[in-house]
Amino acid sequence: MDCIFCKIVSGEIPSFKVYEDDATIAFMDINPLSEGHLLVVPKRHFADLFGGDTDAMGSAMTAAGKVAAGLKTALGIDSLNLVQANGPWAAQSVPHFHLHLIPRKEGDGLGMDWPLVQGDMEAIKKTCESIASAIT
Ligand code: 5GP
Ligand code: ZN
Repeated sequence: MDCIFCKIVSGEIPSFKVYEDDATIAFMDINPLSEGHLLVVPKRHFADLFGGDTDAMGSAMTAAGKVAAGLKTALGIDSLNLVQANGPWAAQSVPHFHLHLIPRKEGDGLGMDWPLVQGDMEAIKKTCESIASAIT
């Protein structure tokens, strides 16, 4: 399969690996948004959160917790965004499920401080019911 992250998992493409277990690897992002920006990646290929391998996602989340603790100690950070993109309009560029761990510092200008705008409670309720009934 022509997947960059599968090639990193197999070692065909080199990476700066910070962590590995049976199900997951973590390596440095080569286009870091901040010092320590890294990716936590299930070894098994699946594209995204939609119908993805829930066991592998769980393992990735467990690994992310371990790696985050290491980041905190190594870099002395107290803030981090966990970002996970699914699909083109969410800016996913590599279609192999992954978690971004992005260390944050005061005044780094990276954003995420989206404004709070009160929603329409009727619309929220309707959407809630529609989603709830679609979860299997
Ligand atoms: P996405 O946009 O899919 O959420 O994130 C993909 C990430 O993979 C990007 O932040 C990008 O910098 C990173 N990336 C793409 N190609 C490579 C690569 O060959 N090696 C590593 N280490 N990171 C990569
Ligand atoms: Zn892959």
